[in-house]
Amino acid sequence: MKNDEISVKTTIFQQYRFGNYFQKQPMRSLLVLAVVCGFMFQTTAQVKKTMTSRAPLRPNPYHELPLGAIKPHGWLKEMLLRQKTGSTGQLDKLYEPVMGARNGWRGGDGDQWERGPYWIDGLLPLAYILNDKELIAKTKPWIEWTLNSQQPDGYFGPSKDYGPERGLQRDNSRDWWPKMVMLKVLKQYYSATGDERVIQLMTNYFRYQLKELPNKPLGHWSFWATYRGGDNLMIVYWLYHITGDAFLLDLAEIIHKQTFDYTSAFLKREMLATKGSIHCVNLAQGFKEPLIYYQHHPEQKYLNAVNIGFADLRKFNGMAHGLYGGDETLHGNNPTQGSEFCSAVEMMFSLESMLEITGQVSFADHLEKIAFNALPAQATDDFMYRQYFQQANQVMATHTIRNFETNHHGTDVCYGLLTGYPCCTANMHQGWPKFTQNCWYGTQDGGLAALVYSPSEVNTTVDGTGVRVVEETNYPFGENIKFTFTLGKKASFPFHLRIPAWCKKASIRINGALWKEVDCNQIVPIEREWKSGDVVELALPMHIFRNTWYENSVSIERGPLTYGLKIGEEMKLVKNPRPEGYGGDSFYEVRPATPWNYGLIRTDDDKLQERFKVEVRGKANSYPWNLENAPVVIKTKAKRIPSWQLYNDMAGPLPYSMTYQMEAAEKEEEIELVPYGCTRLRVSEFPVVE
Ligand SMILES: [Zn+2]
Repeated sequence: MKNDEISVKTTIFQQYRFGNYFQKQPMRSLLVLAVVCGFMFQTTAQVKKTMTSRAPLRPNPYHELPLGAIKPHGWLKEMLLRQKTGSTGQLDKLYEPVMGARNGWRGGDGDQWERGPYWIDGLLPLAYILNDKELIAKTKPWIEWTLNSQQPDGYFGPSKDYGPERGLQRDNSRDWWPKMVMLKVLKQYYSATGDERVIQLMTNYFRYQLKELPNKPLGHWSFWATYRGGDNLMIVYWLYHITGDAFLLDLAEIIHKQTFDYTSAFLKREMLATKGSIHCVNLAQGFKEPLIYYQHHPEQKYLNAVNIGFADLRKFNGMAHGLYGGDETLHGNNPTQGSEFCSAVEMMFSLESMLEITGQVSFADHLEKIAFNALPAQATDDFMYRQYFQQANQVMATHTIRNFETNHHGTDVCYGLLTGYPCCTANMHQGWPKFTQNCWYGTQDGGLAALVYSPSEVNTTVDGTGVRVVEETNYPFGENIKFTFTLGKKASFPFHLRIPAWCKKASIRINGALWKEVDCNQIVPIEREWKSGDVVELALPMHIFRNTWYENSVSIERGPLTYGLKIGEEMKLVKNPRPEGYGGDSFYEVRPATPWNYGLIRTDDDKLQERFKVEVRGKANSYPWNLENAPVVIKTKAKRIPSWQLYNDMAGPLPYSMTYQMEAAEKEEEIELVPYGCTRLRVSEFPVVE
């Protein structure tokens, strides 16, 4: 390839508008397609606003499609609609003192730190994915104020000194950190609208950073920016792809040098093996930094560092929900340690970013693990309340000080708007919208890729023609995924499918005929000429498997889902006795209504499928994430362990699963396991008894 611009055949705006039309006017679309396609093909080359890869940056194997090109269906759409009617759609009213008109990012005299940008970082993609006028209107005052806030020296955003709060030094008016969040917001806004003011603002701001950073480095005001510089760096590279301004590469080097050195920390291995060594959200965000930088410096050590980092994170701190003990600093793998909501959504965003850059299957597997397990469990069904920390073994979610590194007056595991600390109240909204946006990608070889699975559709332009692919599936509960193609005219391009590592043997059918049986842990490109009506069916057979965790406990898993003990849940709204402190006026506590202290009966591998009986309860409901609607349950035999009791409103010390003659009840009982994401209380890492 040449050293200049490499077009990847994707036109942001034409594609988006065309896609919308296609969706709304299916009957007339074929006629229109015939007329429009030739025009589309030409504009792809002519229009400046193409997604491009520009040397010397390495062309990534996958690239994001314009915001709005991917639409959720089925349960995924229901999640986004619940966000709209829940807290995402009304945080300005629910949390008015911070998110209302007085917020500094709307020109007011109020909060000017991360929380406003955090909220918009989730609200904006939600608004444009749903194409919801009301939600788009809510983002406008933030976007417009921000775009108009630029000062002659290039700085943008609020610039009032807000005192020595939050660990910040004085004269913090130009703290680098909150701007990093707003840069991510603006990138998405540009993807949806093509508003050129974004490019100008970023160019001016990055010139300002280039000038200022040598004297006021990322850590000048707070350590947050030092640990989260990867988010800044990724936008610098994104802008370079668009403008090709050489100074951006100089700035990128400065930002990389001033950012905490995750590459060395992962390679040296001490940090992730040491409790308290790093803040859990810094780690979730920082994980991507080596691979963001890899785009300009494609050296193997950056890939190695991240992969070693993930293996160590799993080994020393990992839990069955896909995240790690971090409450708030790193805190080992005891399943009663907490995992912060911000860790879930930030780790998801990091995995999405790394997937695009590498196409590595394990990043997509890990992303699904978090999205389908930890994420739905940490918010209420109406997306109004959430936990600050969740526990992999969580048998009581009550108002009590627990063995966390940080407690907020004991409110951290209660479900509320403001329980724990308010960062999650603001930051949790990005999870599902960005997940939706990352179900589909354009490929470097000019095709389409479905790398993360959920009911959805994509509308885009490939090989010069409009393409719509509808993905119908009960995934992650069901094993089959059906893709139906509609095209303006026949077109040849590769269609990439991911085969997860947990799947032993997958099969792909095209128009009813078996095309190929394929092994796990790879991405399979299907190269052919596509036409309207083509159907690809991917079967990913799911079997029961186990993983081993803290004290040799085991998790029961099937496909991307971890299963937890179904525990009766009694939810009660309680008043906060210290509303002036942390937690808000009131919140929900959850108490167990049925026993939880079960051990699984030791089972050999060859008996696993027969001892754990899977019951599929029909099609996934529009909202599958609660006990009532759980689309799949697993039944098995277990014994209670009388000595395993509550301690401090938590499951007491986990019995060690190699204990000779561990005391357990004589009687076997049948227990029901449900998908982790359907639970508010659960045991997901079980002791094993004879
Ligand atoms: Zn948080």
